[in-house]
Amino acid sequence: MKRRDFLGQAAGGALLTGTFVSGCQQSEAPSTAAPGARREAITWKLVTTWPKNFPGLGTGANNLARLIGEMSDGRLQIKVYGAGELVPALEVFDAVSRGTAELGHGAAYYWKGKSTAAQFFAAVPFGLTAQEMNAWLYHGGGMELWREVYAPFGLVPAAAGNSGVQMAGWFNREINSLEDLQGLKMRIPGLGGEVLRRAGGTPVNLAGGEIFTSLQSGAIDATEWVGPYNDLAFGLYKAAKHYYYPGWHEPGTTLECLINQAAFDALPVDLQHIVTNACRVVNEDMLAEYTARNNAALQTLTTEHGVDVRRLPDAVLERLRVLSDEVVAEVAEEDPLSGKVYASFRRFRDQVEAWHDISERAYLNVRAG
Ligand code: CA
Repeated sequence: MKRRDFLGQAAGGALLTGTFVSGCQQSEAPSTAAPGARREAITWKLVTTWPKNFPGLGTGANNLARLIGEMSDGRLQIKVYGAGELVPALEVFDAVSRGTAELGHGAAYYWKGKSTAAQFFAAVPFGLTAQEMNAWLYHGGGMELWREVYAPFGLVPAAAGNSGVQMAGWFNREINSLEDLQGLKMRIPGLGGEVLRRAGGTPVNLAGGEIFTSLQSGAIDATEWVGPYNDLAFGLYKAAKHYYYPGWHEPGTTLECLINQAAFDALPVDLQHIVTNACRVVNEDMLAEYTARNNAALQTLTTEHGVDVRRLPDAVLERLRVLSDEVVAEVAEEDPLSGKVYASFRRFRDQVEAWHDISERAYLNVRAG
């Protein structure tokens, strides 16, 4: 299929079926016939919150399945289901919790209705970047807390992808001041949505497959999704022309792999290590993919599709930052576990920010000249 057909299909609402059949991007099928497959092969299901084969997110889930098959020499084979194929996008958590599928791929902020503390493990407004999230999870105590948050649901979490800094989103009107946020109906999940509400807007939570038609029909005025690479594929430029940055609400969104605890415990120890380390490979690889492809996609959006790329005004960002700190601090008061996670997160952010002031930030400023 040609790229234009691919984009056309995306824009035409075919996403709702949850299938992308496309020759472009890395739509590799999971490994099915590895040499060792005949001896004690175990087959697991992986349900996702993404349209099947969707660039970056869906292909990240495919890569995870492929890697587990390859690393186990076919002993553990994973069949991937796009959103809506086995269960709807926003039922992935329950499906893996009850064992309908052994694995899920999504983002922890979708599950705030299950556990308030889950929101810290996807994206926090004005929170950690991708590099910082991984540092907190792997070397700052974050992973242990995440396991504690999901344990009551019979789930083991793993970081399995990162989008890097996202875009603020697509708007069908200009945002020149805080006034322009009043009454704005915007698809924006998680804590960012609550911040928008306090700034006068109306947040809406929609799964990926529903965004385009909602924006095009005017059911919503604005949406965030990910960044240029994904947003181009979704065809969002056909529904709104103003594309704002930076993604204050999602500065380094961690995608997750949910693992059914009982299924995981029943695996031989070497296969357990393969599952968790395959997640770690995908976690790193997805960020590399976004970093490599976002700017080319942004150029396509501006030069071929006339998209108007703008920075949110300073006054708007400053207000959102103040509201974000309020909202995140209040989450910490909702239950003891959220308080515990917040304390760790906040401590980590403060110390890593001190270091990044004189490392990443200092370097990038100098390089910009
Ligand atoms: Ca997003």
